[in-house]
Amino acid sequence: MDMDYERKLVLKYPELCKGYNNKNFELYYGFECSNGWFMLLNDMLLELNNTNNKNIEILSIKEKGGKLVININNENEIVKDIINKYILKSITVCEYCGKNGNIRKIRGYQKTLCSNCMKIFERKIFN
Ligand SMILES: [Zn+2]
Repeated sequence: MDMDYERKLVLKYPELCKGYNNKNFELYYGFECSNGWFMLLNDMLLELNNTNNKNIEILSIKEKGGKLVININNENEIVKDIINKYILKSITVCEYCGKNGNIRKIRGYQKTLCSNCMKIFERKIFN
């Protein structure tokens, strides 16, 4: 994710994103997904923030096989439910532009994209 987007989320949710400024956390190396998931992550962080659980810390945010993968410290059932909801949602949101998307498979890649972004992705792969 572009740094501008990452920083917006980190500034909005500093407690959850403490790891962004700590070399011992994978999150230090950034949010490993594309900009289309900005709102998805924003909504997820907002919900996690609203649980008022001061102990939870995001360890890493990634995309794998077209799905959001979140690693988190001190998760409980409520936190797990919130995260699972957004993991399921991630396979319906284009990772590049944020519009509606589906899981698409191409040359061993699996990505959640809309049809337009799929064309861009195909061009990138076949060139
Ligand atoms: Zn798209």
